[in-house]
Amino acid sequence: MKKNLVCFLIFITTEGCSQTAPRMDFENYNPPSTLVVPEHKLTRAKFPFIDVHNHQEEMPTMDLRTLITDMDKLNMKVMVNLSGSNGDELKRSVKNVRDHFSKRFIVFANVDFNGVGSEDWGEKAAKQLEEDVRNGANGLKIFKNLGFSVRDIKGKRVTVDDPRLDPVWKKAGELKIPVLIHTADPKPFWDPMDSMNERWLELASHPYRKRSNTDPAPWDTLMAEQHRMFKKHPRTTFIAAHFGWYPNNLAKLGQLLDEMPNVNVEFGAVIAELGRQPHMAKKFFTKYQDRILFGKDSWAPDEYATYFRVLETEDEYFPYHKKYHAFWAMYGMGLPDDILKKVYYKNALRIIPNIDKMLFPE
Ligand SMILES: [Zn+2]
Repeated sequence: MKKNLVCFLIFITTEGCSQTAPRMDFENYNPPSTLVVPEHKLTRAKFPFIDVHNHQEEMPTMDLRTLITDMDKLNMKVMVNLSGSNGDELKRSVKNVRDHFSKRFIVFANVDFNGVGSEDWGEKAAKQLEEDVRNGANGLKIFKNLGFSVRDIKGKRVTVDDPRLDPVWKKAGELKIPVLIHTADPKPFWDPMDSMNERWLELASHPYRKRSNTDPAPWDTLMAEQHRMFKKHPRTTFIAAHFGWYPNNLAKLGQLLDEMPNVNVEFGAVIAELGRQPHMAKKFFTKYQDRILFGKDSWAPDEYATYFRVLETEDEYFPYHKKYHAFWAMYGMGLPDDILKKVYYKNALRIIPNIDKMLFPE
């Protein structure tokens, strides 16, 4: 017994310490899994779905057939283009859609934040929104520049809950259109960029995403601004993009949804957070099945496969498509059909006006 232990220790010393193993970068260490378990690679959603978080900046002039081909392969019946702009550009996007594929695209308007602080800015912006909706917009998208970089005419940061914006939120409620809003970014972007940071690789590859308490404000401050604004406008329906940046803390997100019945969430770019906690996520999807919408954000048709697999299957330890979002593997939640239907289309049909219900099953 004793002799074996000594040999073992010698083995470690000679093999492990005296010969130096080649060093490897974290980015390069990506061994394929040796785990053998059932696999269900999905290239198509089980039910027709509505992607509520997409960006097509070229919509006024593009050939929409290029999108339709990919959408049909994925079983995406309706794409919501959040980058609809406003005024004439919005009209041109809507015209292109109506002329070619009137049922397959929904366009959201955007607010022009230039001039906040000038007289009647809020009323004018609300009026513009009203006109955009008359011209075919079916929602309002607020980009993360609100809170980050939008400044008033005196150069001061415009907070997400700035009362000068209230007429816009109020108008959206009156028009019965949802406001999909992205505020801040993942919390680790504010944390020290070191070996303890889960988003180290993303910050290394996208250094401009790094934030600090003064650039422009602490993460908690931005989130609190958003939540105060949601609470101040209970008659307006909001969709917090990216699970409100709480996909890694679903208990907290559930608490927020309980406090704010006018708020819904979509999971664009955060499926890797759900796929690492399939049990917790399934409980969350069960409890909040009427408040969750399907969103993806970046238009990369191949990447939808990961979303379908996390939502639909009970597959274990399968790869995610972007290491800078997740260096961990995915697990499927195996959601039942009735919840899948709500997440894939029923909730969006209820919240976003003017989508043709006939495109979807009961
Ligand atoms: Zn987006």
